[in-house]
Amino acid sequence: ALTAGIVGLPNVGKSTLFNAITQAGAEAANYPFATIDPNVGIVEVPDNRLNKLTELVKPKKTVPTAFEFTDIAGIVKGASKGEGLGNQFLSHIRQVDAICQVVRCFEDENITHVSGKVDPIDDIEIINLELILADLESVNKRHQRVEKLAKQKDKEALAEFTILDKIKTALEDETPVRAIEFSEEQQKVVKGLHLLTSKPMLYVANVSEDEVADPESNENVQKVKEYAANEGAEVIVICAKIEEEISELDQEEKEMFLEELGITESGLDKLIKASYSLLGLATYFTAGEQEVRAWTFKKGIKAPQAAGIIHTDFEKGFIRAETVSYDDLVDAGSMGQAREKGKVRLEGKEYIVKDGDVIHFRFNV
Ligand code: GDP
Repeated sequence: ALTAGIVGLPNVGKSTLFNAITQAGAEAANYPFATIDPNVGIVEVPDNRLNKLTELVKPKKTVPTAFEFTDIAGIVKGASKGEGLGNQFLSHIRQVDAICQVVRCFEDENITHVSGKVDPIDDIEIINLELILADLESVNKRHQRVEKLAKQKDKEALAEFTILDKIKTALEDETPVRAIEFSEEQQKVVKGLHLLTSKPMLYVANVSEDEVADPESNENVQKVKEYAANEGAEVIVICAKIEEEISELDQEEKEMFLEELGITESGLDKLIKASYSLLGLATYFTAGEQEVRAWTFKKGIKAPQAAGIIHTDFEKGFIRAETVSYDDLVDAGSMGQAREKGKVRLEGKEYIVKDGDVIHFRFNV
């Protein structure tokens, strides 16, 4: 399963946020993919469409989809040189598919900051530089190896050498790999290099309790937003401490609490949605009388693979996917009506599944 890693300097609120994640946590029994590891937290993906489908179909059970966050502790200045948990930290980050970087935007005299002052851009640059240095080291090694082959006119090596050159130049200029443009062919090679700065990243601005309702009043948040906008990255504003409190409440209490705070959606819910999409994930639904359920798929996959997410037999024996878009189904008011209106399509093996598709798979056993 794909996972988003939570990183950040010490004392920025990572553990507090991760606590909120595990406490709000999904019921692991529903999710066979779930990793059993204290550093992994499973979260349900909030999705209003699932509530609407439940109203429409009135099933016995409704199951949201879920995915995993991984807590990655231990980054400090010099990590790429082995400081702190250095190498361990880097190998953990290598295993995640996207990065959520927690940035301290709250002031609190009682909580020391590793650099002695709260300066979010400084913090971001420390972390991003460590990742760049680590990548530069792997790329340099690879560059040397491939150079020899390239000199012998090995075609593949030549192609890779060009890519490595481009990456090396960018990294030396402190540009992360994700900001470099590559052709589709090159992208495959880049993927194989497993570089840290090629992973998509978003920033989590952690503000104090009294700032959640109006985060723009926090100068640090504005700075983070400007920085992120420059690299086309998203910023999610949260107050980790409040999220930790919310995670202990039930749904009704949670809604009341949010209303008191003057916000409509919890920071954690926003973070979950943003990370899900950062990972390139989307949701399709199955809607039967027994169960209405959301399923996670990687954007771009075809119908048989999507069926395989439910059960391998569904993929092996795939015949077709009876598909209606969520919007069409809600417009029609029921599956029967949607069918009458000709909105239910019979899709075959080549169909590329879309976010919001409601699917009934037909298969041979
Ligand atoms: P980590 O080292 O990044 O995991 O940071 P922690 O989650 O342990 O937080 C460090 C300290 O900051 C703890 O005392 C937290 O209670 C506090 N803290 C974390 N988030 C917030 C926040 O949103 N507001 C305030 N005031 N304090 C926070």
